[in-house]
Amino acid sequence: MYGLKSDVALDLPSKYYSLEGYEKGVARWCPGCGDHAVLTNMQKLLREKQLDPAKTVFVSGIGCSSRFPHYMNTYGFHGLHGRAFPVAEGVKFRRPDLDVFVVTGDGDCCSIGAGAWIHAIRYNMNMTVLLLNNEIYGLTKKQASPTSRIGTVSNTTPDGSILPPLSPVQTTLGVANASFVAQTADWNPAHMYETIKAAYEHKGFSFVHIIQRCPIFQGALVDEQVSNKDAMVYLENENGITVSEEIAKTFKNKFNHNPSDLSEARNLAMDTEKVHMGLFYQDKNAPCYDDYGASNLGYTVEQKEEALNKELDKYAI
Ligand code: SF4
Repeated sequence: MYGLKSDVALDLPSKYYSLEGYEKGVARWCPGCGDHAVLTNMQKLLREKQLDPAKTVFVSGIGCSSRFPHYMNTYGFHGLHGRAFPVAEGVKFRRPDLDVFVVTGDGDCCSIGAGAWIHAIRYNMNMTVLLLNNEIYGLTKKQASPTSRIGTVSNTTPDGSILPPLSPVQTTLGVANASFVAQTADWNPAHMYETIKAAYEHKGFSFVHIIQRCPIFQGALVDEQVSNKDAMVYLENENGITVSEEIAKTFKNKFNHNPSDLSEARNLAMDTEKVHMGLFYQDKNAPCYDDYGASNLGYTVEQKEEALNKELDKYAI
């Protein structure tokens, strides 16, 4: 016997999750695809926050970016087209102890999933949402999406798309109970990292619009976006998203925007000449639907049965 005394407390080191601990498989996105940068930043965020992979869930719909859960060594649900939000809401409602992330694309979220998206904003459940917008359907090989610009030549719009594009930021800001709306771009990883970190730290439906490169089907658009420094505007404010001085210096244009000013946020989102990077809007006090669903968590099977019978008795004649 080694005679360990019962009053000796062993000071064991807590478990540390390394970056590799969050990685899974080889991402099957094209070389140069913006999705790679988002994935790397997300894995870095999980490491910084030391999120337990067993208590972290990534939910997606269908599309290139929706392959995201396959590459995270966490729980994941690669769902139906446009239906990431209802799945994520169900997970969060019954398991509020889990960290829930949604990764969706412009086709998935803004077209077939638009109804679910609008109501998810209003429900304001505590989850981090990344909309990766490449303005095209990539997985199904180049069809115009709701966010494609006028003139986009695709397999469904051979003469160029004719309708004005839907703005995901503008739309989100227009829905009642929006609580966190930000924008970043995949070619500025430092800004993107701070943005998704702020989104994670916000309690509520944190919506991050990521302008995402698709060099295969939107090559020219990418070149224009990355090289046109005049078009990018850094939203700076002590209550906004702050990047290091070195990164801030890379922006030619800056604008001081208070993220509690919804009216100004909407005006900025309507600007089609400039791309504003940072936090458009935040309301830390917006009601979260998941706060009202925790009342019967932990019920035993008998208690659930009793509650169900009580409910059904209301309809007895
Ligand atoms: Fe990325 Fe475009 Fe390739 Fe899809 S088609 S993986 S969006 S580069």
